Amino acid sequence: MTSDRITLLAQAVRDVHDFPKQGILFKDITPILADGLLFKHAIDTFADACGGKEIDKIVGIDARGFLFGAAVAYKLGLGFVPVRKKGKLPYKTESASYTLEYGEACVEMHVDAISPGERIVLIDDLLATGGTAAAAIKLIQKMGGDLLEAQFLIELEFLAGRKNLEPVPVRAFLKY
Ligand code: AMP
Repeated sequence: MTSDRITLLAQAVRDVHDFPKQGILFKDITPILADGLLFKHAIDTFADACGGKEIDKIVGIDARGFLFGAAVAYKLGLGFVPVRKKGKLPYKTESASYTLEYGEACVEMHVDAISPGERIVLIDDLLATGGTAAAAIKLIQKMGGDLLEAQFLIELEFLAGRKNLEPVPVRAFLKY
């Protein structure tokens, strides 16, 4: 069942060449979102991977990490915390800068989003160089969160992003 799910999800990811700039092969997950059964498979895959862990909150990364992370949090009855791109959150924030596969950026989290000792799972759609997730991890750790695992629907293994997240355990379901 699980491997059938993964096969169906992998078949639905659309490769878009040269987006958002020349030389980038963009993994488009919108066909998964647009199909009710595939979206459910994706959320169930993340949620099953959370099984057996005592978790307080899911942290999702702007923007596609919100789509998966919020649905997983809802399914598991957990709180959801957004890590947003700079300038989007209204209250006091902590920030962390990073280098993206295609650019430079800064992410932010509300200062009161995580209480010390809360048990966290981080979710995003895709792990590329790991810069974005590493910045999110910095924010979680700054707040005193206990990060149990980082989960991604897709991992671009050739970019070795998980090395940047060490020693945080990393789980990805579709690997390229
Ligand atoms: P990185 O910081 O390099 O690991 O980049 C990860 C973030 O950028 C994730 O939030 C992804 O949504 C997005 N991203 C980076 N590279 C790609 C790609 N090739 N296809 C789709 N999304 C990507």
